Amino acid sequence: MKKAAVIIAVISAAVAAALLIYDGVFMKTANVGFFAMNTYVSAELKGADSQKCAQKISDITARLDTEVLSRTSENSEIHSVNQNGSGVLGSELGGWIAELLQVCKKSGGAFDFTLGGVSDLWSFGSNPRVPDGQALADALSHSGYEKLTLSGNNLTLSDRAAVIDLGAAGKGIALDKIKEAVEKSRVSHAVVSVGGSVLLYGDKTFTVGIRDPEGGAGRYIAKLSVEQSCVSTSGSYEQSFEKDGRKYHHILDPETGYPVDNGLVSVTVISESGLLSDALSTACYVLGIERGSKLAAEYGCRAVFITQDKKIYLSGVSRDVIEITDNSYTFAEQ
Ligand code: ADP
Ligand code: MG
Repeated sequence: MKKAAVIIAVISAAVAAALLIYDGVFMKTANVGFFAMNTYVSAELKGADSQKCAQKISDITARLDTEVLSRTSENSEIHSVNQNGSGVLGSELGGWIAELLQVCKKSGGAFDFTLGGVSDLWSFGSNPRVPDGQALADALSHSGYEKLTLSGNNLTLSDRAAVIDLGAAGKGIALDKIKEAVEKSRVSHAVVSVGGSVLLYGDKTFTVGIRDPEGGAGRYIAKLSVEQSCVSTSGSYEQSFEKDGRKYHHILDPETGYPVDNGLVSVTVISESGLLSDALSTACYVLGIERGSKLAAEYGCRAVFITQDKKIYLSGVSRDVIEITDNSYTFAEQ
């Protein structure tokens, strides 16, 4: 090899090594995506422990689902309570159930995490169908959060046929656990989405999109600028099907057992707490704009309501932090 070629080869190797070291020490990032909690989880992390933290996030979501929250996993705490009609909860789950029972009460029962039997009849996730009216009425008669008693960490179902289903809050709870892990790491910035719930972590302003209810994933109608927070969206476009020209979706009215039909297509809630952003997005969807806004405000949370007729209602959100990117949508005069 000629001398010049050797010099170039040595310099190239040195530059490559320097870049590797720089990336390893100063610019560590991780971008991962995987399925957990019946949904897609994605994490973008920046900072020293990124790779390690990404692995932790994967472990946390898997463990939380199979050991605590899932009602189908035979090893979970919730499965055990549903099977046995009672159980002594781990202290973390006990705290989450207490908080969720408060959302049930404050929402006047619009949020109700005992609708598992009713959801099963609709079977949105696997084999969606319109249930028989009598079967629906029966399942509804066995649901209702008043059938739960939490005393310390002892949870009892007064009706053995009631089925606890944390589908409306589990992804937000996962975000809270993920945030704890991120805080303990040397990750400086993180964007972690678990289905329709996103954790935005770090000292900066983040931009999040509000999904286009008519478009597929990745299409947005507006952009929201937010500081560190959790942002959850509940929409009628998730888990839905059409039958005889009617659309049915998975957010249910606990009074009727049928999908909520109140002119909304989605509600986005911004909160410091993942549990609250997730639970309140569902609760506010069921309650509608007026009562939903009040509930969100009671919890110190902000909300964006999108209607079928393409109007955007803001609750506690300044117009300065939201930009409409699809001109067929307009702000409602409030
Ligand atoms: P996603 O699961 O798509 O994030 P949500 O957070 O809005 O959406 O939760 C919807 C899920 O919550 C449903 O699939 C069902 O399991 C459950 N659910 C449906 N209606 C209610 C309700 N009124 N209160 C509490 N949970 C509900
Ligand atoms: Mg929810």
